[in-house]
Amino acid sequence: MFDAAALAGGAGLDPAAMMQEFAAGDPRMAALMEMMQAQRVPPSNDVEAPDERDDLIAELSARLDAAEARLTKMTRIARQLHEAGRAGSQRLSRLAAALGACGLCWGEDPACLGCRGRGRPGMVRPDPQVRAELFGSQPPLREAAMHAH
Ligand SMILES: [Zn+2]
Repeated sequence: MFDAAALAGGAGLDPAAMMQEFAAGDPRMAALMEMMQAQRVPPSNDVEAPDERDDLIAELSARLDAAEARLTKMTRIARQLHEAGRAGSQRLSRLAAALGACGLCWGEDPACLGCRGRGRPGMVRPDPQVRAELFGSQPPLREAAMHAH
């Protein structure tokens, strides 16, 4: 009844035929086979399965599209933030030069390679050209106040 050679060969194995072969010589096995057959999904559901698969594929595809759209948007926002940060940093650096401060840390970082934390405004000679560009002919308030006395 049990064909080991057929199992080992593997080619052309028909599960249904094998189960019938098992059941043929054993009534208990036959009853078990019947129970297993009864528990199987009704054929009508097999017809619905492709539709469900299509629905699932459509839903996953829509979610993928939405995720890609979000990713594109996030990438655009990240670029804008990067550009804004770069522009702000450049502006701050020019202001530091105009005030004679360390453009890297403004004297707030003792480990700063540029000033070792001593680069507060006025610690170095201000860049006159940048100063003129930023403040024009009018000196900054503190200097104006000093000249008033
Ligand atoms: Zn510094």
